[in-house]
Amino acid sequence: MSSVRVLYICSAGHSGSTFTDMLLGGHSQMESLGEFSFIGKNLALGELCGCGVPVSDCQAWAPIFNRIIRERGTDLRQSPYEIRQWDTHAVQIIDNQQQTPAFLLGMKLRSAYMKYRYQLPQKLYPFVPFPPRVAGYVHNTNYLYNIIRETRHCQIVIDSSKNIFKALALYENNPKEIRIIFLSRDGRGVYLSKINSNMSQKEAVLSWVGYYKRALPLLAKVVNPEHLFKVRYEDLASQPETILKKICEFAGMSFEPTMLDFTIGIRHSVNGNRNARFNRQKKGIRLDELWRTKLTQEDLKIFNKYGGMTNHCLGYHD
Ligand SMILES: [Zn+2]
Repeated sequence: MSSVRVLYICSAGHSGSTFTDMLLGGHSQMESLGEFSFIGKNLALGELCGCGVPVSDCQAWAPIFNRIIRERGTDLRQSPYEIRQWDTHAVQIIDNQQQTPAFLLGMKLRSAYMKYRYQLPQKLYPFVPFPPRVAGYVHNTNYLYNIIRETRHCQIVIDSSKNIFKALALYENNPKEIRIIFLSRDGRGVYLSKINSNMSQKEAVLSWVGYYKRALPLLAKVVNPEHLFKVRYEDLASQPETILKKICEFAGMSFEPTMLDFTIGIRHSVNGNRNARFNRQKKGIRLDELWRTKLTQEDLKIFNKYGGMTNHCLGYHD
């Protein structure tokens, strides 16, 4: 039996991570969690589970919340942030009670610590522990992954939280069970999606470039290459059977043909791209390359100036 227990998806935003998460969730032994780090915010704000009802009312989450009450004495439906998994920074739907300036400052400091820690030689890591709060996040995440697997009777959970330091910390803590899927998408597609979400042109490119500049060298340094699967959104969307078979092999699982039918099954995923989560059945598996017709010459000029090199490094040459 495969020792893999978690597939963690790393990518910049707007790169198809929710789509990938949902596709993998079509496997009978894989449970799609969405951007799991945000479950606290989803509960606090009454946001919807992938099944269409608020996470707090979802029948698939109820036994998990009830088990947490028994084991930890806390009801996440009443205290959503009690078992926090990671620092989260929401940009569209924000819980202002929780995401305060003080919280964001703490998050920035913890992120800076992790950044410098991972720049050290690997042999020093045992002497430079995670900050206590981050160590707690790792512990909590593993606890939640475990009870979800047990309660939902599946072998692997899919977490598309994307945060690179969460990926590295989970992997360092348990390299036998964690596998990383490193997803990229043509930066021009990401760029169009971001400017359509009202981000400025320059910011849209630079935030995407920033993710890969940070993530690529760190993954290469920390993660065993056999535990890292690199995939392009375009390949997954245009040749789903070929790529899903490869991902299943990577995870030590058998491919299931039902994974290719996007219209069946429910995903009790929290947070993530709304379109991918709620229009799955209607849209099916479809490659989105709208950028080819929607981006203007001026858009492309700005993209190439700031992001051309990164796109090239990710294998997009045309
Ligand atoms: Zn649900």
